Amino acid sequence: MSIFSGLEQIVETHYQLARRTWYGLGGPADYFIRPKTIEQLREIVDRCNENGIRIYVMGFGSNLLIGDDGLRGAVIKLEAEQFAQIKYEDQEVTAWAGAELSKLVLTCVEKGLSGIEALTGIPGSVGGAVKMNAGGNFGDFGSAVETVTLMDSGGVVFEKSKPELEFDYRKTNITAKFVLNARLKLNTADPEQIMRTVKEIWIYKKNNQPLNTKNSGCIFKNPPGASAGALIDRAGLKGLKIGGAIVSDKHANFIIAEKSCRSRDVMRLIEAIKQRVKEQFDTELELEIEIWD
Ligand SMILES: Cc1cc2nc3c(=O)[nH]c(=O)nc-3n(C[C@H](O)[C@H](O)[C@H](O)COP(=O)(O)OP(=O)(O)OC[C@H]3O[C@@H](n4cnc5c(N)ncnc54)[C@H](O)[C@@H]3O)c2cc1C
Repeated sequence: MSIFSGLEQIVETHYQLARRTWYGLGGPADYFIRPKTIEQLREIVDRCNENGIRIYVMGFGSNLLIGDDGLRGAVIKLEAEQFAQIKYEDQEVTAWAGAELSKLVLTCVEKGLSGIEALTGIPGSVGGAVKMNAGGNFGDFGSAVETVTLMDSGGVVFEKSKPELEFDYRKTNITAKFVLNARLKLNTADPEQIMRTVKEIWIYKKNNQPLNTKNSGCIFKNPPGASAGALIDRAGLKGLKIGGAIVSDKHANFIIAEKSCRSRDVMRLIEAIKQRVKEQFDTELELEIEIWD
């Protein structure tokens, strides 16, 4: 009997992950699974555990570089209706992991709810925004999150709230396998004023980031007290190209994937940048993107 018998409707095999990453890169996963309910998710987790199948949890793939040979295991994506709900109750918003972050931000603006407009222009899902504590110069997602509902690798669902729940620069103390939803506490404000902030952030991003290219946002975290992009720029690496991967001229912390690009080109370019920055500034750059290889 097959490992996922009875669940064929939500399980695809040998699934090309390039279709699901912002980079448009990445080989096949053994299994690509989109459960429709929490019960189905639990069943999938059980079957993976029983059969020793490694689980990867994928959001919108905007912070991922997946290897050309793909992944031996199951990639689970929470995108079905149940996992993409957003509920508004006064200043409290419950957003499920599969909801689109940009849609959440805009709806909050329209409703005059302030607190996450700083996330303007950041692609991805709510689950990814929680796990990465997405944000930047203007603020981060964690500041608005009060409670998260999680599922651990044994299928147990539980909640974690502040102050036990902590957010830091591009990380959280969540160790559970799945973020199911996040409860946000927002403030009421004038929608027009929030929209002005949104527009300012958009203009800033348009002027400073290579929009309309295939990329994965910032490749490296900023080292304490420094800017990774500025170090890469000062090392003279803008425009450096390996295969189909090239360091953006507009923002040196972005690597653009051109048409012929393979994941291995991006990985080699990452190593070349790290080495040059280490040599010139004695600084070890740490990855902000995740590499699944
Ligand atoms: C053009 C561009 C601009 C960007 N700008 C910014 C920026 O300004 N600031 C910033 O912080 N990021 C930025 N990013 C990176 C990225 O958008 C964020 O990290 C985003 O939060 C990732 O969300 P995702 O749904 O795509 O997650 P994915 O990339 O799919 O996954 C990222 C991580 O989250 C985990 N994850 C996703 N969903 C779940 C879940 N439900 N449960 C448990 N774990 C989960 C994954 O396992 C993985 O570890 C940018 C990316 C691009 C392409």
